[in-house]
Amino acid sequence: MAANRSSDVLVVGGGPAGLATAIALRMKGASVVVADSLTPPIDKACGEGLLPDSLADLAQLGVDLLESDGSAFGGIRFVNHGGAGKENWGTVCSGSFPEGHAFGVRREVLHKRLAERAADVGVESRWGSPVQLREDGDVLVGGERASYGWLVGADGQGSRVRGWAGLERGVESSKRYGFRRHFAVRPWSNSVEVHWSRSGQAYVTPLGTDEVGVAVIVRDSHWRLGDLLREMPTLRARLDGAEAGPERGAVTRTRSFRRVVAGNVALVGDASGSADAITGEGLGVGFRQALVLAGCLVDGDLEGYNRKHPATLRMPQRMARVLLLMDRFPALRDRAIRLLAKEPALFDRLLGVHVGAEPIGRFLTARGLKMMWQLAV
Ligand SMILES: Cc1cc2nc3c(=O)[nH]c(=O)nc-3n(C[C@H](O)[C@H](O)[C@H](O)COP(=O)(O)OP(=O)(O)OC[C@H]3O[C@@H](n4cnc5c(N)ncnc54)[C@H](O)[C@@H]3O)c2cc1C
Repeated sequence: MAANRSSDVLVVGGGPAGLATAIALRMKGASVVVADSLTPPIDKACGEGLLPDSLADLAQLGVDLLESDGSAFGGIRFVNHGGAGKENWGTVCSGSFPEGHAFGVRREVLHKRLAERAADVGVESRWGSPVQLREDGDVLVGGERASYGWLVGADGQGSRVRGWAGLERGVESSKRYGFRRHFAVRPWSNSVEVHWSRSGQAYVTPLGTDEVGVAVIVRDSHWRLGDLLREMPTLRARLDGAEAGPERGAVTRTRSFRRVVAGNVALVGDASGSADAITGEGLGVGFRQALVLAGCLVDGDLEGYNRKHPATLRMPQRMARVLLLMDRFPALRDRAIRLLAKEPALFDRLLGVHVGAEPIGRFLTARGLKMMWQLAV
């Protein structure tokens, strides 16, 4: 069987994490091939929000998003559509990012910009080329045997590379179902709006002057976007009658693996673990891992990547735990949203912690005990 031209690194999966890794490695001088079974621009069910820290990592990769690519937003707004008591229905609270802004951008547009940057720095792309991993150790790209020094698995949640490299051991602490649709509606808020109801969350991301994306996350696999909107009358009224695109679905998990490297194989992005999508950090985590992996890989230090990897997921997974508690316990949700409505500065600081602008230790020392007391009584 003919061998492909050899490369220092073969990246399996040309989604956001795979392309980011390929770019970061090329920027450090490695020769890189990235292969994906799909062809660009690749779409996916996603809330399509890039938080300020994710934008900073994207900038480090040299990826420029144009103003016309999407819509900047300044914070997060929670709307409670029914928790433990009717008196709490409709409570709204808002927080602003301490520095900079976030950006709502369609996945296809983000993918196009990443693919352009990858081509500019000299990444060799093999689109429409499924990668097969054989038991004898051979790897086929589009049916041809590939020759490489290192292999990166950026092949998403259901990663085949992970199983092939013997890296499946891990812990899954949550599993939910997400759906996304685009609506031709002028954004009505300068924030991402997260609507909470008893069965899940819907979040609305501004994507342009006349478009919003609505992503819903639910615990019941039988539910779809329309089912959840029935529990959110004010949001439903906003979207009523608007032209809507197709619905896309995906599973979202909070999951960690014991190891993310084996031999000359490393995992990045969702393949290497994830936090529930409500955190809005999946893309940024992938970009961060890409930068860390590139640094370690050019030094030939994959163990270093394995050591540094848990830190990339720690904060999103902590936040996921808190937000999933609010999802499960309506009384806690009511209290938390009422507290944040009363103290907007507290919400600002929590967002600061979420996007890495304030260390969690400092926040807990200053506010932790008081906040826990306020939530308890
Ligand atoms: C409902 C929902 C909302 C979300 N909202 C946000 C948000 O607002 N902000 C945010 O930052 N994150 C969000 N996320 C998370 C984010 O979408 C993921 O973290 C991100 O897509 C992970 O990127 P990835 O490149 O690791 O994987 P993927 O995007 O899944 O890409 C994997 C790629 O690998 C390819 N592939 C797989 N197997 C093979 C193979 N054998 N051969 C060749 N190619 C292969 C696939 O075709 C795919 O293109 C959300 C997720 C969900 C489900």
